[in-house]
Amino acid sequence: MTDHKFATAAVHAGQEPDGATGAVIPPVHFSTTYAQDGIGGLRGGYEYGRAGNPTRTALETQLAAIEGGARALSFASGLAAEDALLRALLQPGDEVLLGNDVYGGTYRLLARVLGPWGVKLRVVDISDLAAVDAALAAGTPKIVWVETPSNPLLRITDIRALAAKAHAAGSIVVVDNTFASPALQQPIALGADVVVHSTTKYLGGHSDVVGGALVFADAALAEQPQFLQFAAGGVSGPLDAWLTTRGIKTLAVRMERHSQNGQAVADFLAGHGRVARVYYPGLASHPGHEIAASQMSAFGGIVSLALGDAAAARRFAESTRLFTLAESLGGVESLVNYPDAMTHASVRGTELAVPEDVVRLSVGIEHIDDLLADLDQTLAGL
Ligand SMILES: *Cc1c(COP(=O)(O)O)cnc(C)c1O
Repeated sequence: MTDHKFATAAVHAGQEPDGATGAVIPPVHFSTTYAQDGIGGLRGGYEYGRAGNPTRTALETQLAAIEGGARALSFASGLAAEDALLRALLQPGDEVLLGNDVYGGTYRLLARVLGPWGVKLRVVDISDLAAVDAALAAGTPKIVWVETPSNPLLRITDIRALAAKAHAAGSIVVVDNTFASPALQQPIALGADVVVHSTTKYLGGHSDVVGGALVFADAALAEQPQFLQFAAGGVSGPLDAWLTTRGIKTLAVRMERHSQNGQAVADFLAGHGRVARVYYPGLASHPGHEIAASQMSAFGGIVSLALGDAAAARRFAESTRLFTLAESLGGVESLVNYPDAMTHASVRGTELAVPEDVVRLSVGIEHIDDLLADLDQTLAGL
């Protein structure tokens, strides 16, 4: 599949028609165990569901193909994937250099779960390459972890430049590609060693399945995380894996519409007198717009806005009609979120705290006229 274009690989990789019946959609394998032809005589390499499952293999094949990786592993959630990766690669005393605008749960996992086991954490504005230089000069982190665009302020990091610096220092580069999805950005081609996903978001795409994934540039780096996937057991179940595979097949067309709608929403908000600031990498005024344009094929569906004070931001989040007030993002339906008290409540008062006047929109694939009308009535009522 590596010689096919993205949209083709998304539909076909790991999805050969079933050999026994010709079913165009491969069956979902629920069996937890597999008959052996004599002791150790495995038919397809499968023995027990935690160790391997054909539906999970199909998803992992599809994930590796769409991210341009050598190997992918699928997990029960994005955080289960992150946990397996971090515990596989880190020893007590190792340090992680983390961007200061990442998913709150990633910070919580590092600071409150792995921290007590001796993992050290340093936080910088990772979009600022001078700050990265200074951090690397002060000591070599085992892992440099970046989210671009970041959550929720859509900061942009130059992946190619960051990877060159981190590799020169001897660090492993991990990119959380949840916000862009591989349809818009391919971190491995830009130098990343590992791509992390919450497949709960754009890859699943329909807000109906929680999952996570790791994709590796080099299969050798996947060995320890794969052992931990098996030994600690944070695997995705067969139905979850199948729903995610089905979501990925339409990823290319969904991301096109998310990006068109995201741009139109950002342009509308940027021209509205009640809005203090709009955060969207597709706006020419956005810091990092040029870098985003060079490493992304479009700018995605997440738009954040600042309204000047917390009360206005809370009112905004509570008065949309079509945008549903809810956590999460990346589904076909539009959502509104107040990060300070919802998705980012766990980082309140830390160096990752989100400004209190910021609202985050996950712009869905509905008709743009209806989305803009909803935002217009919301702003008029503030
Ligand atoms: C949601 C999210 C995660 C965590 O994934 P879960 O599937 O919720 O465990 C990690 N990174 C980003 C950017 C996310 O949005």
